[in-house]
Amino acid sequence: MYKINENYLKLPGSYLFSTIGKKVNEFTAANPEKKIIRLGIGDVTLPLAPAVIDRMHKAVDEMSSPETFKGYAPDLGYEFLREAIAVNDFKTRGVDIALDEIFISDGAKSDSGNIGDIFDIDNKIAVCDPVYPVYVDTNAMSGRTGEYLPELGKWSNVIYMPCTAETNFAPELPKERPDIIYLCFPNNPTGSTINKDELQKWVDYALKVGAVIIYDAAYEAYISEEDVPHTIYECEGAKACAIELRSFSKNAGFTGTRLGFTVIPKELKCGDVTLNSLWARRHGTKFNGAPYIIQAAGAAVYTEEGKKQTQEQIAYYMNNAKVIRDGLASAGYTVSGGVNAPYIWLKTPEKMTSWDFFDYLLQDANVVGTPGSGFGPSGEGYFRLTAFGSYENTVEAIERIKKL
Ligand SMILES: *Cc1c(COP(=O)(O)O)cnc(C)c1O
Repeated sequence: MYKINENYLKLPGSYLFSTIGKKVNEFTAANPEKKIIRLGIGDVTLPLAPAVIDRMHKAVDEMSSPETFKGYAPDLGYEFLREAIAVNDFKTRGVDIALDEIFISDGAKSDSGNIGDIFDIDNKIAVCDPVYPVYVDTNAMSGRTGEYLPELGKWSNVIYMPCTAETNFAPELPKERPDIIYLCFPNNPTGSTINKDELQKWVDYALKVGAVIIYDAAYEAYISEEDVPHTIYECEGAKACAIELRSFSKNAGFTGTRLGFTVIPKELKCGDVTLNSLWARRHGTKFNGAPYIIQAAGAAVYTEEGKKQTQEQIAYYMNNAKVIRDGLASAGYTVSGGVNAPYIWLKTPEKMTSWDFFDYLLQDANVVGTPGSGFGPSGEGYFRLTAFGSYENTVEAIERIKKL
């Protein structure tokens, strides 16, 4: 008789977005005349840039003729794309990344979940609290997180690093020694960042305790401040302790098109085994490549036109972020984020819980956001708004909130 992976049974239900959906549906049914504005979405809304679409069309045509048809992509991804990444994402930051240290994938969500494959079950992970849920849930699925403790909203075998106003929404070095540390900057959900000196402390710490850092830089393109690192490899020694995850989803609108990559420098070794060789083996065995059409479209992001057009999209979202941030601040809210990230993290007023504030905003302003407690216990008392809506809706939503 076969057995299932019982770790799946330990997972708590993912109630956050289904509960939000249910509450919004109930409200709409009871108030069909009210216009709801959604500032809870973590998905882009602008269409793909013209340069990307043009290249994608050409790539589709290439598939129609025997001379230019492409079958399976190379294991690591097409060299034209890895070359563009090495030059534009790393060389410009003073970082040398070799082409065989870049692994093209179908996105950072899969990579952040799959990367656990190359590590023993007997590793202790440390995560920020609040956190992007994928890191914890995928470790839970492989049996690395112990038991779920519903009364705490935590797993017994995970090190949680609270990120609250008291810590400036950045994690502090944990007291207990982790083996694998997940960091995400600019951060989802808090929109916070840390500067290069602060990130250097994490690199130094990882090197000292023999931990590996999994660095999610999905929001790198939103960085506007000078001293915020664009890649962890700007820090000295990071190549010997860090894996970096990148995505085309938020910088170029590929959420529905799917493209990302993982960087594993060859200096990163456990004893004398390079993690690069393990991931190469895993990638070659379990993944058969992002589609040529999508990789070609991705390379167009790095052309002069592509850069200009995607930067305009980011500027559009970040203008929304400013509208939200400034508007809420002027209405007396305590806000953070929204400067180097498309997320604004606000403190709920008058000690309301995150869900109380959700209901209040839905009922009285007909605006939908995301309760901070959905991202972890330290998110309680906070609320996330995103800059991915249209400018017009963003302005109207903030006007409504101001009038409350
Ligand atoms: C959106 C997001 C990603 C990107 O995931 P894709 O699978 O590339 O779309 C990765 N990490 C975080 C924290 C995100 O919010």
